[in-house]
Amino acid sequence: MDPARYPNLHVSSHPLVAHKLALLRDRSTEPKKFRELVRELSWLLGYEAMADLTTQPITVETPLEAMAGAELEPKVGLVPVLRAGLGMVDAMLELMPSAEVWHIGLYRDERSLKPVEYYNKLPDAATVQVCLILDPMLATGGSSAATVDILKHWGAARIKQVSLIAAPEGVATLSTAHPDVDIHVAAVDRALNERGYIVPGLGDAGDRQFGTFAGPSSEPGHDPADETAEVVRRLQRNLAGEP
Ligand code: URA
Repeated sequence: MDPARYPNLHVSSHPLVAHKLALLRDRSTEPKKFRELVRELSWLLGYEAMADLTTQPITVETPLEAMAGAELEPKVGLVPVLRAGLGMVDAMLELMPSAEVWHIGLYRDERSLKPVEYYNKLPDAATVQVCLILDPMLATGGSSAATVDILKHWGAARIKQVSLIAAPEGVATLSTAHPDVDIHVAAVDRALNERGYIVPGLGDAGDRQFGTFAGPSSEPGHDPADETAEVVRRLQRNLAGEP
């Protein structure tokens, strides 16, 4: 993938991010350590993703004198993609304690890989200006593009996606549908496999955080459904610019 094709894509070059990401990918990393790493990486990526938020001038009284200070201008909303995105919320709230957290439930249909909405309690009008979509894995991009559709319809003025790892297919899908959405990631991996997992990736980010391993048949790479494999092939043709 040529990153220059996607000016909205920001891949962190911070050595701490690279170090923690390697630990996160390691198959021997246990859920407790995995959750800590998700939190630490989210903190670092969140810090980078918010570098262009506007501030307004305020006056601060230090114990010695008054001085000019700054406070964040936009109200920020965090939108974790259930369930793996939940592990990214606490770190973002540490950075921005006044952020609102909104849940939109989309699940990925196992065969078609299409997002299906099952939970959405957003109020009628947007209550925040900037929304951060939190999803550790930007895989097909389908859930993210659908979440952006919902948030734009809601009235969010600015939307950013923060993910730990992206697949080129996911970057292409989201950027094509929503070129105005900034994508902040720790790495862009090689590709999706025929089950829709990012390779080399880290496996299932939800299972690895929450310790919910259902056995070998649930592991990446087993028994690809024909429909899933066809969706992945279509995304890969799109990425290569074929019709
Ligand atoms: N979701 C995951 O948890 N892992 C992947 O590789 C792709 C989607």
